[in-house]
Amino acid sequence: MNRGVTPQSEDFSAWYNELVAKAQLVDRGPAKGTMVIRPYGYRLWELLQAELDRRIKDTGHENAYFPLLIPESYLQREAEHVEGFAPELAVVTHAGGKELEEPLVVRPTSETIIGEMMAKWISSHRDLPLLLNQWANVVRWEMRPRMFLRTTEFLWQEGHTAHADEADAMRETMLALGLYEEVARDIAAIPVVAGEKTPGERFAGAVRTYTIEGMMRDGKALQCGTSHYMGANFARAFDIGYTAASGQRQLCHTTSWGMTTRMIGAVIMTHGDDKGLVLPPRLAPYQVVIVPIRDTAPACHELAVRLRAAGVRVHVDDRPQLSPGFRFNEWELRGVPIRLEVGPRDLESGTAVLARRLSDAKESVPLDSLPSALPVILEEFQELLLRRATGFRDEHTITVGTWEAFAAAVSTGWALALHCGRPSCEDVIKTETAATPRCIPLAGPEESGTCVRCDQPSAYGKRVIFGRAY
Ligand code: AMP
Repeated sequence: MNRGVTPQSEDFSAWYNELVAKAQLVDRGPAKGTMVIRPYGYRLWELLQAELDRRIKDTGHENAYFPLLIPESYLQREAEHVEGFAPELAVVTHAGGKELEEPLVVRPTSETIIGEMMAKWISSHRDLPLLLNQWANVVRWEMRPRMFLRTTEFLWQEGHTAHADEADAMRETMLALGLYEEVARDIAAIPVVAGEKTPGERFAGAVRTYTIEGMMRDGKALQCGTSHYMGANFARAFDIGYTAASGQRQLCHTTSWGMTTRMIGAVIMTHGDDKGLVLPPRLAPYQVVIVPIRDTAPACHELAVRLRAAGVRVHVDDRPQLSPGFRFNEWELRGVPIRLEVGPRDLESGTAVLARRLSDAKESVPLDSLPSALPVILEEFQELLLRRATGFRDEHTITVGTWEAFAAAVSTGWALALHCGRPSCEDVIKTETAATPRCIPLAGPEESGTCVRCDQPSAYGKRVIFGRAY
């Protein structure tokens, strides 16, 4: 029986689809586009969630929970918002055996219901800023669903904040973007690029949308999180206002920002290889798997206890009915960073064989050194993944000045190009190359000239990242 997956280098898409199932991350849900997150996948999510939640709280936000069902009329109060989300809505029209007087929308995002509550809770400038976050599921009726990347129901956090003025709300928008950039880089080892979306890619109802974009190993971009400055659009629609120190009534400026279970897809496609998943130690459900060979299981369990005490997430794969080779392959496919093999001879010499997920070399290490050595080895592995992904991204990001160079760059990765900013020109580029503007990188130097496609003057005062995207 072939337990492996189609090699990534042969067919990236088949590799991904087979891997998410074979690594036991997810299974298909019965309703179209839904997924069942299995324990191994859910643990990954929990670890990411814990890191993000801690940062959200450390920066002064408080978690709350709002209802899943939202009266349809709420969405209609913000014209762009409802227009943007209408095609993706799931609507409840019947309940309790009767047709409802007003249909209820299954939340695709919660600006409207949270806006309604903000209006109630804020009255004076002393109530500001109001910094809320919610961990929840949302539903968006996706036409081309893909596990983790684009499911009809997904898990996320959504931050929603209200501020006295634009400057404070913009500070918040950038703070949230910074949290995402940090979690992606330091926890998921994904060297994302933070930038602003062009107007055509903005969130429905936002004044400005910021994003972190990751490059997957097929050269495509994946939007890994977004942070929106809403101006007073939602404040106007929901009457979110306050009395200023001067006694005047003013509208609030609001923000929202979200990161989702899509991040698991980002981890898979940033680090995985022909053999399967490669998990960053900070997110790996098991950082170390110990494979006992023959009758060494009791000693392996003892070792596991010592490793756990040293803060290592460790699993003993004590399945005597399966050959060691079979078990090695399985944990390789499931992306465990470090494998320890312990046979009777190793035990006699007080050692274990250590194998790293990205290397074919094995080394023999003293058992007694493992509790102190493994945390260091795991840290090195985490750093290696970030370095490797950064190198890949940089090699596949090309600064281009001609249309030919642009087309070549987006066939294998990203193009950094000057663009006129006209939606009609973006459409031409998309039709001809399938590439779209991913973001205007915050870190990019000031530059202007002519558009890479149409020779009109460039917009934004900077180069734009273009790429094919998920
Ligand atoms: P938005 O509220 O539209 O800004 O979405 C927030 C983030 O959710 C985006 O940046 C995507 O990374 C992610 N996302 C959007 N749609 C989906 C989906 N169907 N499944 C998983 N993640 C999604």
